[in-house]
Amino acid sequence: MKIRVLGCNGGISAGLRTTSYLIDDDILIDSGSGVGDLSLDEMAQIRRIYITHSHLDHIAFLPLMVDSIFERINAPIQVIAQAATLKALQDHIFNWAIWPDFAKLPTPDKPVMCYVEMAPGSVVDVLGRQIEMIGVNHIVPAVGYRIAAPSGAAFAFSGDTSTNDSFWNALNRHPRLDLLFMEAAFSNAEEELSKKARHYCSKTLAHDLIKLTHRPPIYLTHPKPGDEQDIFSECLALLPGWDLKQLKSGDIFTL
Ligand SMILES: [Zn+2]
Ligand SMILES: [Zn+2]
Repeated sequence: MKIRVLGCNGGISAGLRTTSYLIDDDILIDSGSGVGDLSLDEMAQIRRIYITHSHLDHIAFLPLMVDSIFERINAPIQVIAQAATLKALQDHIFNWAIWPDFAKLPTPDKPVMCYVEMAPGSVVDVLGRQIEMIGVNHIVPAVGYRIAAPSGAAFAFSGDTSTNDSFWNALNRHPRLDLLFMEAAFSNAEEELSKKARHYCSKTLAHDLIKLTHRPPIYLTHPKPGDEQDIFSECLALLPGWDLKQLKSGDIFTL
């Protein structure tokens, strides 16, 4: 299983892109501005898009992507999320005012995309890859994902979250975790803001990581633009002995 990081930043500026990961050639986790680096052929190969939550940095390029490739695909792209997230997309994005309803276009019986509801806690098998949706604690309904490769090796992504037990308990229930993308959005100087926005800051992440029984390489994601080095330095100091790195757009992992 291949994981290609298209975007992993908490905002934009030159060289920074928001959250999107490509799993093999056919699965997308979130559809932030990183999607804009894919070619038309690469976008047309995507069959399923698993969304963590409705915030714009995670869905901003979904409307543009489906509009760009609808003549190149034969079956609808599945947009998969929990019910509240799908409703937010339908009510606030694909509502004909912000963007056309591509679940009805080009024709209602053969649309370019379709909505597929998935409940947190459930697991699906997608051509040998086991995808588990895990509820987390964010300001809107949000999930992370654990994805196990056919080999059994496993990758997890927290999505956007603040302190919680559900994500850690779900990961601890499995015997393996080989790679973790973990949000660390704010530095400690913005701890109060991080609590209001329900993101981790360095301190709260370090406190919660004690709950994880695995010791995989951890790649920090979603840093506020400009604060990347502060967040990374704080986490390194607070988490001695952990294998911490900064995730970068363009990184590729094979499990
Ligand atoms: Zn968010
Ligand atoms: Zn976000």
